[in-house]
Amino acid sequence: MRTAVISDIHSNLEALTATLDHIDTQNVDRIICLGDILGYGPSPVECVDLVSQRCEWSLMGNHDFGVVYEPTNFNLAAEQAAYWSREQFESPAGNNEVAKHWEYLSQLRVRVSFRDFLCVHGTPRRPINEYLFPEDALNSPVKMQQIFELVDKFCLVGHTHVPGVFTDEPDFYPPDDLDGVYKLRETEKAIINPGSVGQPRDLDPRASYVIIDGDCVRFFRLEYDIDAVVAKIRSVPQLLDWLGERLYEGR
Ligand code: ZN
Repeated sequence: MRTAVISDIHSNLEALTATLDHIDTQNVDRIICLGDILGYGPSPVECVDLVSQRCEWSLMGNHDFGVVYEPTNFNLAAEQAAYWSREQFESPAGNNEVAKHWEYLSQLRVRVSFRDFLCVHGTPRRPINEYLFPEDALNSPVKMQQIFELVDKFCLVGHTHVPGVFTDEPDFYPPDDLDGVYKLRETEKAIINPGSVGQPRDLDPRASYVIIDGDCVRFFRLEYDIDAVVAKIRSVPQLLDWLGERLYEGR
C-alpha cells in the first residue's frame, strides 16, 4: 500500500496541481491530507474541489477552522485572508458545487488513525493549533516527552511547513540528512512532517510531500509556477503582497 501524504496547501492551486501530477506518476494507492487546504493563497474553492476529489480524507487545519468557524490567534494578513476565503464560498443560492465544498470543509476531522500512524495537523495533544518545531527536539524535552507519550508508534503532523522526522531520542532529521528517505523501525517512535505543498518554510521554495511505502518514508520536492500564484495574490486586494513574496524564498 503506497500512501502519498500532502499538507498545508494554503489555497495554492499551482503547487497542488504540480504535486498531484507528480503523485500520479508514482503509482500510489491513496492520497491523504493533513489539513490547511485554505488560508493565505488565492484559489480556495479550486483547492477544496481537488482535495475532496483526490484525497481519501483530509484533516482540519487551523486555517480551515479559521475560515469555517473563526480565525483565532491569526496575524492580520492571515485573518484578512481567512475572511476573504470564506467569501469565496458564499455563492448565490442553488450553487450545489460550492455548497458541497463548504459542507466538506465543515466535516473535516482533527484526528485520524491509519495503519500504525496517528494523524493530526498540529500535535497529538493540541491537534489543530500546536506547532512541533525542529528546535523543540533540542530545547523542549518536556514538550517532546508529553507529545511522544501520546504516540503509540508513528505520527504524521503538518502545521510548521518544515519537512523532516522527529524521533523519541528526541532528535530531528531534515530530509537532506536522511538522503530523502527515512526507514520506520519497530524500536523507534517517529513523528513525520511531510512539509508544505503550498507555502514551504524551510528556505526551499519547492512544494514538499512524502510517500509512505511499507516501512519506507520518501520525501519529494517539486518546482511549480510560483509567478502564476504571485500574480493571482497581487490581483486580490485582501491578500497582502508579501504572502506571494514569501513563496519565492520558501519562508
Ligand atoms: Zn499551514
